[in-house]
Amino acid sequence: MRILMSQADVTAAEQEAVSRAVLSGWVTPLGPEVDAFEAELAGRVGVDHALALSSGTAALHLGLLGVGVGPGTAVVVSSMTFAASANAIAYTGARPVFVDSVDFDGNVDTELVAQAIDTLRAEGVTVAAAMSVDLLGRCVDYGALTGELEARGIPLIEDAAEALGACHAGRPAGSFGRAAVLSFNGNKIMTTSGGGMLLSDDEALIARARYLSTQARQPVPWYEHVDIGYNYRLSNLLAALGRAQLGRLDSMIARRRQIRERYAALLAGVPGLRILGRDDHGSDADDNCWLTALILDSHDSPMAAPDLLTLLDQENIEARPLWKPMHLQPVFAGERAFVTGVAQRLFERGVTLPSGSALTDAQVDRVCDVLARALVR
Ligand SMILES: *Cc1c(COP(=O)(O)O)cnc(C)c1O
Repeated sequence: MRILMSQADVTAAEQEAVSRAVLSGWVTPLGPEVDAFEAELAGRVGVDHALALSSGTAALHLGLLGVGVGPGTAVVVSSMTFAASANAIAYTGARPVFVDSVDFDGNVDTELVAQAIDTLRAEGVTVAAAMSVDLLGRCVDYGALTGELEARGIPLIEDAAEALGACHAGRPAGSFGRAAVLSFNGNKIMTTSGGGMLLSDDEALIARARYLSTQARQPVPWYEHVDIGYNYRLSNLLAALGRAQLGRLDSMIARRRQIRERYAALLAGVPGLRILGRDDHGSDADDNCWLTALILDSHDSPMAAPDLLTLLDQENIEARPLWKPMHLQPVFAGERAFVTGVAQRLFERGVTLPSGSALTDAQVDRVCDVLARALVR
């Protein structure tokens, strides 16, 4: 049996919740489970308003529209991310502008964000927003980023798709910026099999997004439309699944941390190797440990990242490089980028290990055996 990186962790509690929703007759998009899911998630993250949607990508799209992103504008975004962050910018007709990472955790280089905004503005480009991405479940340095953006009057959209349950300086991921986005895709820290959430303290922003997400219907008996709408709502059945997952979120995060601690203990002292976003001083205590990634410096480490990926694959263990930076993606080859080379280096040296909360102890043992053989002398 192949060991997967981040498989959905679903139990009898989820099965019971979905059955309950089916038996209730609400086999619809919208319904009481959706309302309750939104309220529970907003409470968990500590924001005033939440909108459950069919995907994190849909939430990003509506969040961007909500802060006025559109044709003729640019959005500054981390290059080290999943394509959905940049795709959502493209959906609005705006242009993404990519910014490189810091080496420690791969999150966006906040000083370079400020430089990028100033450079674009000096050239006459309208920067409508910045999008931060909390990479692999670790928050951006918001102390630094928020200051730079507020000084420039740029609204922030937080792509917290990977970071539910993480926090920064005591504040939960999903509570930064004008609006924030969560994903409940099948491989995320919790899942609705497919779904997402837009979060904000701005009631009008969420109300407008809610209207656009249900085909932009006017409140009259016939179908009357004055805007282009979208079909982006979450199904009531999936919201029931999400509520059961949310009830187990803390234990799922604890399990992912336990797995990270196993890898960290096993690999401590291996030369030229580190865990992304972690040092010897508990620097990852606020992470949700969604995925644990190794960075192998090919000069000193016993094995280079591509060779470790090949070995794990041969052992029937799923592992992957980090996200390939957006400024290196053919589809975005024509876009502006502020590059230092850090994200590319992390991409070349990174190996993301099996990290899912559904992994059994025997599976973690098997991964550790292979890692020990390859890396521990
Ligand atoms: C998963 C993910 C998304 C997209 O979420 P979906 O629910 O799959 O649409 C967006 N941004 C990041 C950083 C992600 O990891």
